[in-house]
Amino acid sequence: ATPTSIMVGTGKGAENGILFKGGEHLERTHALNAIVLDKTGTITKGKPEVTNFTGDDETLQLLASAEKGSEHPLAEAIVAYATEKEIELGEVDDFNAIPGHGIEATISSNNILVGNRKLMQDHQVDVGSAEQELIDYEVDGKTAMLIAVDGKYRGIVAVADTIKETAPQAIRELQEEGLEVIMLTGDNERTAQAIAKQVGIDQVIAQVLPEEKADKVKEIQLQGKKVGMVGDGVNDAPALAIADIGIAIGTGTEVAIEAADITILGGELLLIPKAIKISHATIRNIR
Ligand code: ADP
Ligand code: MG
Repeated sequence: ATPTSIMVGTGKGAENGILFKGGEHLERTHALNAIVLDKTGTITKGKPEVTNFTGDDETLQLLASAEKGSEHPLAEAIVAYATEKEIELGEVDDFNAIPGHGIEATISSNNILVGNRKLMQDHQVDVGSAEQELIDYEVDGKTAMLIAVDGKYRGIVAVADTIKETAPQAIRELQEEGLEVIMLTGDNERTAQAIAKQVGIDQVIAQVLPEEKADKVKEIQLQGKKVGMVGDGVNDAPALAIADIGIAIGTGTEVAIEAADITILGGELLLIPKAIKISHATIRNIR
């Protein structure tokens, strides 16, 4: 590889909003044959909104008060929903995030749990007939969370995030370039499949705990693939680092940008196939 053509390649990237941390990344981008994409904030806008809430006013008040302690986009959606309904949030005495499962909080000696099925199972909460309602939301691509107060099931809150407009085209272009495209998410299988379908992805790895994302990338590499990982979150950083090429979403966290080899400005997914095309053009010119 001549230094000049590499410089032209990275320059072409920069002009388009694709920031390669070093020229050597062009060659490794050229070699990729699989792209793994995080769901929330990468494929979707990462600005979820509450679409459904079943429960009484007291439950909503406890739910939103508890979520005030969380930085998760799901929590922001719930707090915004309660604020819009002019619900006054209460003091939280104790708060605990359970990665990949939900949250636990204490509010005026009430124990509040908000999260997925696994969280409720782990705390022996009987959710009665909620399962069918959960499924109905999930097939729609919504993330539904169960709420329990003092060990008793109290309702469901469902949240929807919208896909980025250009996601389907970006994924099609990647597939046309001959890359395998895979979605990786902590969300449940059904919601993940619904979102994947909207953007044209047929391979989904769901219900992955934050600390397991890097292991999943490693597994794909062990199948003999050269993996590009795309993500925005703190959770994604180890996976971005272990991938052959880590691609951070420019609108994402600083930690993700640090861990990645490439940053795409503004979170525009079309820049991913663009980066691949620039790498092909550059490396083919050299050889
Ligand atoms: P993602 O990859 O979608 O960001 P996470 O690993 O952060 O997924 O979360 C996985 C699941 O854990 C969520 O779909 C949700 O069910 C539950 N969860 C995470 N954070 C919260 C929260 N603050 N409140 C309620 N549930 C949560
Ligand atoms: Mg994300």
